[in-house]
Amino acid sequence: SEPLLEVEGLRKHFVTTKGLLRRRRVTVRAVEDVSFAIGAGEAFGLVGESGCGKSTAARALLRLIEPDAGGVRWRGEDVLAARGARLKALRRRMQIIFQDPYSALDPRQRIGAALTEPMRVHAIASGAEARRRAAALLDEVGLPPAVLDRYPHEFSGGQRQRIGIARALTLEPELIVADEPVSALDVSVQAQVLLLLRELRRRRGLAFLFVSHDLSVVRWFCDRVAVMYLGRIVEEGPAARVLAQPLHPYAQMLRDASPVPDPARRGTLPRIRGEIPSAAAPPPGCPFHPRCPQAIARCTGSLPRWTALPAGQGGVACHLHG
Ligand code: SF4
Ligand code: MG
Repeated sequence: SEPLLEVEGLRKHFVTTKGLLRRRRVTVRAVEDVSFAIGAGEAFGLVGESGCGKSTAARALLRLIEPDAGGVRWRGEDVLAARGARLKALRRRMQIIFQDPYSALDPRQRIGAALTEPMRVHAIASGAEARRRAAALLDEVGLPPAVLDRYPHEFSGGQRQRIGIARALTLEPELIVADEPVSALDVSVQAQVLLLLRELRRRRGLAFLFVSHDLSVVRWFCDRVAVMYLGRIVEEGPAARVLAQPLHPYAQMLRDASPVPDPARRGTLPRIRGEIPSAAAPPPGCPFHPRCPQAIARCTGSLPRWTALPAGQGGVACHLHG
């Protein structure tokens, strides 16, 4: 069947200034070349260390920032070419949940207004009907209707994230982009929020793009995953295979360094050897070669091509598997 979302060759660079008097212009290659597809109702994980470009890729495909190059299709329709009413309609289908629920809410706006405003803007409902729908959404995320009349600062981090989830549902999306949805929360409430997301997924048939640095959470939540390194996907496939039997040396190191499931350590990505090179000066050849224990001669000079694996097992970009 046709994918819900297709991302092809997505690229996003940022120009920043550096050094004395900020005179040096530096290009940060945050997202270099990212391609993947998500089917209806599928949970797709994007994993990698901080700075690998996963959040930037998620924002660029939603056009919260404009990508430099590449293609994004929603049920075959060109998202990057959409303007005005078409873009508004497409945005309704894809909603985002942010890492920090507090920054995503306007502190001067009551929760009721935060939930009903998108319904009004998109002409879904207004007045008493919008308020009734907002109360039903709060109920769905486990909060009482009295929440409607209160302000964001009156809630805990976990409650705010529930409110953020309710708001993402106001427009009845088919895809939720969840960018590290629990990593800013207390460990004690992370599991509750993850269970809520999984229950919503099941009940509403939602697809997810789940961005995370936490391998155990991704394995639990996602059907398929892609591992990102310095702006590129280095391996992709069914979550169980990629996270348990990865082929790419970087994914293998993540797996081997991954702690045994321990709630107290959740949220910390294993430390693996070597520093992540700057995305302003990615190494030539395979970007992972300075850290790779399996590197061979050609790794320093040529970028490995994407190699598809047989029988729905995904693919990998590594000279050892070309
Ligand atoms: Fe390591 Fe070479 Fe594979 Fe890159 S291409 S991951 S350096 S073996
Ligand atoms: Mg991020």
